[in-house]
Amino acid sequence: MDDRYSRQILFNGIGSEGQQRLTAAQVLIVGCGALGSGHAESLARAGIGRLLIVDRDFVEPSNLQRQTMFTESDAEQHLPKAIAAANHLRQINSSIEIEPHILDVNYSSIEQLVEGCDVVLDGTDNFATRYLINDACVKHEIPWIYGAAVGSYGVTMTIRPHQTACLRCVFEQAPPAASAPTCDTAGVIMPIINVVSAVQVTEALKLITGHIEDLHGSLMQFDVWRNEWRRIGTGARRTDCPTCGLARYESLSGTAEGAAVLCGRDAIQISPSQPTRVNFSSLAERLRRAGEVKFNEYLLRFKTGNFELTVFQDARSIIRGTDEVAVARSLYARYIGN
Ligand SMILES: [Zn+2]
Repeated sequence: MDDRYSRQILFNGIGSEGQQRLTAAQVLIVGCGALGSGHAESLARAGIGRLLIVDRDFVEPSNLQRQTMFTESDAEQHLPKAIAAANHLRQINSSIEIEPHILDVNYSSIEQLVEGCDVVLDGTDNFATRYLINDACVKHEIPWIYGAAVGSYGVTMTIRPHQTACLRCVFEQAPPAASAPTCDTAGVIMPIINVVSAVQVTEALKLITGHIEDLHGSLMQFDVWRNEWRRIGTGARRTDCPTCGLARYESLSGTAEGAAVLCGRDAIQISPSQPTRVNFSSLAERLRRAGEVKFNEYLLRFKTGNFELTVFQDARSIIRGTDEVAVARSLYARYIGN
């Protein structure tokens, strides 16, 4: 083990005590897309003792340009990202514990996931989930690291609950829907992913090894194409912040949306109102009359006309071919039912 980690133990900021802390640490990665792939690989190689990886999506060919955890074979098999990532991470480092979760992080699951973690890393692509992470982490006093990237631009910030400004202190509200470019409208290049992910992982290493004084303490912004690197002060924590000032954890209160528009992908996600477990073979049997059906252990995919429904074991579905919630709900009711 000493040999495996010898080069980072030699590094002053880590040392053998730091390595022991990394080995004893538990880290949650929320979202295993481009940023999450970067987090997962770096932290597995660094020897983080227990890695929890949560993702609701499956691997597609268009992910391969920047999501380094995945291969062509993962995309061909439509593997859930959490499972594909866990498979590769176990080959990278067999001495650590990897816990994949195929699920949509929501108010009912987030608190359980963050509990017991030393750090939480943001690999998501939306503000709704980030506010959930912020609420849960502030409530449970767990540091977390915000990160985002689109085009050649990226941003990151480290939140230490009740010590620094939180996400809600800095961004009181999410940008309105369709107001900002997304990776699907503006594209994204891999180098910005590497930059943001590298800063997030480094901050995680500092937090775990206790080097609080070395955290960057700002909102860091990068544009690798325009050659701009900026650190913006976040200001002090706001005493009137609903989350870290007033302890009103609104996103944890459970006003379940049931449907979510997926970040510029011409797709809607529908969640069942009650948790359930789908029997894929009997569902496939029914759906075969209406269109083309394929399924594996983790998900079922159904094509009908211009729509494609991907159903997960918990009955959550991603409906592709529409950006209208009503159309998606209707398809869900017609083909999946509740
Ligand atoms: Zn706050």
